[in-house]
Amino acid sequence: MAGKLEIIVLGSGPSCTTPNLACLTRDDSSINAPCRCCSSISESTDDAMAAGGRKNMRGNTSAVVRKTWSDGTQSYLVQAGVGSGTGLKPALDFKIIDAHKEITIAGINFLPFEVQHGTTDVTVPMTVSAAKGNHDTSVPSSPEEFSQEATMKIKVPYMTLALLIEDKILWMTDTNVLPDRAWNILLHGVNKEGAIVAPDSSKRKLPMAFIDLADHMMIGRAHLDLRGFIETLDRLEPECTFAIGMNHTLCHGEIVALGQEAEGQRPMGYENAFIEKALYGDISKLANDGLFARIQQKRLHFRPAFDGMTVSMELEDAMANV
Ligand SMILES: [Zn+2]
Repeated sequence: MAGKLEIIVLGSGPSCTTPNLACLTRDDSSINAPCRCCSSISESTDDAMAAGGRKNMRGNTSAVVRKTWSDGTQSYLVQAGVGSGTGLKPALDFKIIDAHKEITIAGINFLPFEVQHGTTDVTVPMTVSAAKGNHDTSVPSSPEEFSQEATMKIKVPYMTLALLIEDKILWMTDTNVLPDRAWNILLHGVNKEGAIVAPDSSKRKLPMAFIDLADHMMIGRAHLDLRGFIETLDRLEPECTFAIGMNHTLCHGEIVALGQEAEGQRPMGYENAFIEKALYGDISKLANDGLFARIQQKRLHFRPAFDGMTVSMELEDAMANV
């Protein structure tokens, strides 16, 4: 029996939210130019409308998942653990015990899997020889030569969780790198035993994906930037994608224009300056190596999420069981 699955976006912005505090407190004497994204929230000019206006008002990433069964029964699941601002929280703070097994909460099926969210420092012991250095294996002959304990800090990948909801919707905020296992789950799925389907089997295309897009450009950080977002789309090829977690370097209208450009539907002149910067500028260079041409050829549909946005899809076999 048919049912419905909905995602209601409560927050589409980064942990620091937009408008950005620095932009809100900037005065006329500041050497920095006014930020178009934050300024547009007042919707007082034509440019502000084009940039996205109030859709640039983005709270910390969060969402409600709502499932409706054919008899009208509904269940809701609200993302918890938002607002920490540290960037070190799991993407969705459900009570997940094992990140490698499917879970069902309130009748909604989730498959959590690990993705990388930047790096974190860990302190590890380091044994050094006082007299002869690290690589000397000879037996010490005096107390001064005995090893002493020291510690060192190393950077390791910080892993967080993305979710596949009802095997149809990807919710993947707070990530900059997808490990092979994550790609295999997304492209090939898991069988009833929870094993990843053989990667040499045919590739599937998810009907809907929410994918991290934090910044126009990020180097060595914990999120996808514009190029990383487009590269992820190129490989994943979801039927419908929403960017989520955007900061004030990206206006709503600019991402809409890029999505329209990919589909060959951008109105004449709309956001020309941004498209030029994204495709040919020194930062993203989306057009330089054929990446954006591939996206255009595939006509992938992507748009920015915004606070209050609701998207839904029909579910087959949605029997009430809660
Ligand atoms: Zn700003």
